[in-house]
Amino acid sequence: MTVSPHSKAKALKPGSRRPAKELCSECGLCDTYYVHYVKEACAFLNQQIAELETVAHDRSRDLDNDLDLYFGVNQEMIAARKKEPIEGAQWTGIVSTIACEMLERKMVEGVVCVQNTAEDRFQPMPIIARTPEEVLAAKVNKPTLSPNLNVLEQIEQSGMKRLLVIGVGCQIQALRAVEKELGLEKLYILGTPCVDNVSREGLQKFLNTTSRSPETVVHYEFMQDFRIHFKHEDGSIEKVPFFGLKTNKLKDVFAPSCMSCFDYVNSLADLVVGYMGAPFGWQWIVVRNDTGKEMLDLVREQLNTQPVMSQGDRSNAVQQSIPAYDKGVTLPMWAAKMMGVVIERIGPKGLEYARFSIDSHFTRNYLYLKRNYPQKLASHVPEYAKKIVSQYKLPD
Ligand code: FAD
Ligand code: SF4
Repeated sequence: MTVSPHSKAKALKPGSRRPAKELCSECGLCDTYYVHYVKEACAFLNQQIAELETVAHDRSRDLDNDLDLYFGVNQEMIAARKKEPIEGAQWTGIVSTIACEMLERKMVEGVVCVQNTAEDRFQPMPIIARTPEEVLAAKVNKPTLSPNLNVLEQIEQSGMKRLLVIGVGCQIQALRAVEKELGLEKLYILGTPCVDNVSREGLQKFLNTTSRSPETVVHYEFMQDFRIHFKHEDGSIEKVPFFGLKTNKLKDVFAPSCMSCFDYVNSLADLVVGYMGAPFGWQWIVVRNDTGKEMLDLVREQLNTQPVMSQGDRSNAVQQSIPAYDKGVTLPMWAAKMMGVVIERIGPKGLEYARFSIDSHFTRNYLYLKRNYPQKLASHVPEYAKKIVSQYKLPD
């Protein structure tokens, strides 16, 4: 019997300090014997997006092409929504539908996804789903750091050879780095964009400070109409304008990993399903390579689609948001609502809204890194992010 190097390593104990220290996003890799590869694989210890793009997509993004610069390697981009949405999914359930189809057609033997615990609807519980029912039980975002990769040891033990993994950028970066060690014949990766994630305690603080009824929130999203939409248990929707957020109280809510992340668009997934580049009510799909196309083709007939569009100019709104966030300015609610209405009418839409969101987060995160981890600035910020940030004037 051959002994692989990782089989000699041991998972770190739950709750023990992780190699990335406070920047750890709890991606789950260190909960397995694949911790052996952590120095190379961890998204926060060894940013290597351009190199891994070349491995995953045969090329890294072209910084002179605006679509590549912002959204990563892409061969197709569309807006879509399910003709028959899945009740209770985050949006229309395109992610869950693709995963169910792949299991039903026996393209994969398992799907890594994240359900919640029985006690807490927001407490993530990663699993390897083997049936569509188990996939559907993982629908809807768990808006908390989730150790999706903590099931990696089970993959090798189960003898599975064909696998789909659903995950966010930091999980997928670590996964790509150890992909060759997993002994799989085929790995499919279905990603979602991700930003401003929080620990379970951070989520509670966010809900308590922002929602009128924190205990009844079932899901929420930062929407393209510049408002957060909280969906409550009774089906009602509460809308809070971004500009009315109590930024001074919320400054330390987002996880340090997410404050220093520049992989909003999940650069290394084969297929990405989000919403921010699409008109309100639609999902936004980025096909990065042929594997991603194969996955999307499975469900095309179940979708209404339209081409992506782009409208408006984000630049001023981004530039103005930089000092406002930096100083923790909070507008009175009436002013925030008014600003929300004006911006919704004349503000950026479609891909330009996505660029607005990327620019605002990258400038904020660049400043965070510069102030808190200046020694990491050069190596941790990818070249595309440096180029995006350089369009703006940042405070010292
Ligand atoms: P569903 O069919 O409801 O399936 C959701 C899938 O997400 C499930 O398979 C589940 O396993 C997986 N999942 C849930 N929580 C997590 C988690 N914490 N970590 C990893 N996987 C998880 N899109 C944007 O365009 N802009 C954003 O700013 C943005 N922020 C996001 C922040 C977070 C924390 C997450 C998890 C997603 C975010 N998305 C964002 C993606 C978007 O909200 C939807 O998840 C996506 O459009 C898929 O919707 P759906 O109805 O097809 O998903
Ligand atoms: Fe380990 Fe993942 Fe944390 Fe990095 S982010 S230290 S790989 S658990």
